[in-house]
Amino acid sequence: MLIVMKSDATDEQVKAVLRVIEDLGYRGHPMPGASRTAIGITGNPGAVDPSHFENLPGVSEAVRVSKPYKLVTLDLRSEKTVVQVGEATIGGEELAIIAGPCAIETRDQAFVVAEAVWRSGAKFFRGGAFKPRTSPYAFQGLGEDGLKILEDIRDTYGLKIVTEALDEAGVDLVERYADVIQIGARSMQNFTLLRRVGKSRLPVLLKRGLSATLDEWLLAAEYIMAEGNYQIVLCERGIRTFAQHTRNTLDLSAVPAVRRISHLPVIVDPSHGTGKNYMVTPLARAGVAVGSDGLIIEVHDQPDHALCDGAQALTLAQYQQLVNEVRAIHEVIVPAPVS
Ligand code: PEP
Ligand code: MN
Repeated sequence: MLIVMKSDATDEQVKAVLRVIEDLGYRGHPMPGASRTAIGITGNPGAVDPSHFENLPGVSEAVRVSKPYKLVTLDLRSEKTVVQVGEATIGGEELAIIAGPCAIETRDQAFVVAEAVWRSGAKFFRGGAFKPRTSPYAFQGLGEDGLKILEDIRDTYGLKIVTEALDEAGVDLVERYADVIQIGARSMQNFTLLRRVGKSRLPVLLKRGLSATLDEWLLAAEYIMAEGNYQIVLCERGIRTFAQHTRNTLDLSAVPAVRRISHLPVIVDPSHGTGKNYMVTPLARAGVAVGSDGLIIEVHDQPDHALCDGAQALTLAQYQQLVNEVRAIHEVIVPAPVS
């Protein structure tokens, strides 16, 4: 159920609707928009009787939701969500560039890359302190020591820090040091983790699972929103197919597909999406051309010696070239109207 308030509804009238929702034992999610506020209802085991709301002051209509998700949809919020991270944004007019090494390896390595990311004008630095590796014997990240390096990078350059949490204890730590919590592709359906980040005050960057359909991905975002965290960025990072020429198949059609359904910003990760250095820049250009709100790019000062994902890492010079190219494309992109 979705309660659409009249455009002139007062805050008191919105609160009164929320009280009725709570009295029924459900949770209300008010989404103020430019023209009106809509209120999503979650926690109801079955259909909600619209007559509870239809005659309340300020209510325009009570609408049944037929889609499997409620809060992520444009029905609830017709304007795009702009995720605000301090003075930086994702989903606004600016193209968000999130760049850095796959893993924080050493303080020196992280600072050399951060300097280049800062020089490029990007607002976000990414680097893993907790790495989800296929092999238990591969480098797993520096843990809290890595987070401390990330914190120092924020203090030095003013870059916003994006880093992955693998589990609930990891979220407690990431909340202490970072600005955005990344949920990796392998964790997209870790539902207890999704619920935990749903209770966080930090925005969440939610990667698409390796074999996730659009509905599964949006439902993962719905888990987070249902807990009250509405600051979510979706990230297309490639899916498993039969292709042998890439690590994953970057599904750029996901960008307009998400746009048609959801108000959440969506960004593209051409690094994991291709797994190959020479493909990252062309696919980054394509990602921006298709309407992505941002890019997540892996960069390393010495890709040949990277402890993680070296084959897809750009050198510092390649990275700067990519930024120049995608900015030029972004300038000529006119955002498509939502239809
Ligand atoms: C990463 O960002 O380094 C990462 C592990 O990504 P993904 O979860 O998309 O594989
Ligand atoms: Mn990586």
